[in-house]
Amino acid sequence: MIPRDTIDTIISTVRIEEVIGDFVVLRRRGVNMLGLCPFHNEKTPSFTVSPAKGIYKCFGCGKAGNAVNFIMEHEHFSYPEALKYLARKYNIEVEEEEQTPEQLQELNEKESLYNLNQFAQQFFSRTLLETNEGKAVGWSYLRERGIRDDIIQKFQLGFSPSAWDAFSQHAAKNGYKKEYLIKTGLSLEKENRLYDRFHSRIIFPIHSASGRVIGFGGRILSAEKTHAKYVNSPESEIYNKSKTLYGIFFAKNAIISKDNCYLVEGYTDVISLFQAGIENTVASSGTSLTLDQIRMIRRYTTNITILYDGDPAGIKASFRGIDMIVEQAMNVMIVLFPNGEDPDSFARKNHPDEVDRFIKENAVNFILFKTRLLLDETRNDPIKKAGLIKEIVNTIALIPDGISRSLYIHECSALMTVSEQVLMVEMNKILRARLKKSLKEEGSEENEIIPEPEVIAEPQKDFDTDSPGSQEQEIIRLLLLYGQDIIHLKMDNAADTGVPVMVADYVVHVLLRDEMVFENPVFGKIYEFYLDGVRKDAIPDRNFFLTHPDLELSQTAVNLVFSPYELSKNWYKNNILITTEESRLLLHVEHSIHAFRARKLEKMMTEIRRKLANAETAEEQTILMKQLGELKKQSIRINREGLGRIIIK
Ligand SMILES: [Zn+2]
Repeated sequence: MIPRDTIDTIISTVRIEEVIGDFVVLRRRGVNMLGLCPFHNEKTPSFTVSPAKGIYKCFGCGKAGNAVNFIMEHEHFSYPEALKYLARKYNIEVEEEEQTPEQLQELNEKESLYNLNQFAQQFFSRTLLETNEGKAVGWSYLRERGIRDDIIQKFQLGFSPSAWDAFSQHAAKNGYKKEYLIKTGLSLEKENRLYDRFHSRIIFPIHSASGRVIGFGGRILSAEKTHAKYVNSPESEIYNKSKTLYGIFFAKNAIISKDNCYLVEGYTDVISLFQAGIENTVASSGTSLTLDQIRMIRRYTTNITILYDGDPAGIKASFRGIDMIVEQAMNVMIVLFPNGEDPDSFARKNHPDEVDRFIKENAVNFILFKTRLLLDETRNDPIKKAGLIKEIVNTIALIPDGISRSLYIHECSALMTVSEQVLMVEMNKILRARLKKSLKEEGSEENEIIPEPEVIAEPQKDFDTDSPGSQEQEIIRLLLLYGQDIIHLKMDNAADTGVPVMVADYVVHVLLRDEMVFENPVFGKIYEFYLDGVRKDAIPDRNFFLTHPDLELSQTAVNLVFSPYELSKNWYKNNILITTEESRLLLHVEHSIHAFRARKLEKMMTEIRRKLANAETAEEQTILMKQLGELKKQSIRINREGLGRIIIK
């Protein structure tokens, strides 16, 4: 039990922005701080922390609370565990009674597993540093590999004795239950006896992002082929391989400050690089990279650099996994170590500065790396080359951002000596097929969850300029496609270079000024997000809508974004053909706003004329005539503005 006054000290000492800042990159926004919510998958930050109030709230999923709640929720800790975690972070001493066997029994299962792992870690560390066997076998091995004592301590490396059941016996003597020894995988049961899974191995404890030991990796020292070189803890309630990155606890601050995460294969790669001062390194330890691991990294940075030993077969095998990173809108760089070297051996042979320089100088963008590697294999074989083009375009099509996609198409077209046009056509095919598939999947999934079919949004009809609502649709499509693009508005004279504004900013300002509202409820909903974005200076990107949990909304956005459509190449103004992309965009924006307003005014005037025809008193008629006059004036004004510039006030 933690005494009450200690709890008060902890709560009054913690700073919520520091506690959450260990897990979420927070940026100041006024008096609050804003970041990507760690509790739901989002691409536009809606997770708000108030340092003054000591609380957080996510406007996306609704999770809210104080620092203790955050740690409980995020780390799946109990209340006392969260308090202990915070006490450790702020060096507050928690005086607790030693746990008796009875107390141990009372702890819930998860806590028992964590407890046992911590107990085991301490046992393995002591064995390594304090026993004759540990020092002679384990410690001297680590020393031979040049691992310093401070690094051994930091990563809590250990050694498990060669006796078959040394740890199991020690744990049983200290009141740890057989059930948990088996669940954590520390012990194996055979003919009613417990044996140590890790006996005579170097121990690498695996830590959660908050620093708790959730599992172990053990490396054998003998060269016997009968034993696996590495064994790992089995999955348990507290250890899920696909959600774990080795080294994340030690690396996360460096990942945030360097805005880059180095990804390696093994425990020793992480440790050797860390010793060389390259602390932003984690390992996926054996398993191929999972989506959960990528999202874990994405909490801290959008840049991943993958460090490979120079084996092309291994690299090719990992391409699929890397595609997944690309799909998460992250930038992936590849570093290839010289033949026969892995990050571990390279870091041991070279001076830390050289290691750092080598990584920086040899980092190549993944898509270009992949293109070059595959290009090497195709030589001049046209059939193989066709396959290569498909393969590369497939990867580029995964990038959520359209501008980045076209940049890569440009680069790769030069590398492969294939025209951009050909690549574009191929990419659009893939995008369409993927979209169809995802809509089908979404549809069927939805059917399973929600029995009433009418909940599913009707697919949008093809764009038809004359149908009612088409102007609304056009504005929304424009926002989705170009909302974050910059246009330059000329304010006074033609010589002026213009004021840069985002398309969404511009559209929202004009519509607000003219008090224009949307009739179609879904378009209205989408517009509201832009309105809010402009007010908060955080205009949502297209993916926000494409991946929105509101199915009606996301389907509408998907339909608008993917229907065949492009800026007309033949805009004329004063009989001059407008050729640059931006001028065409500007004209297009103005045209769309104009059409939208004209349509609205027309509708309002028709409505007033109808009322006028039915008006019974002269007074009523006068009022309506006045309204009609106002609308006519507006109509003349916007028609005069026409395709010219629209003035923002
Ligand atoms: Zn959330």
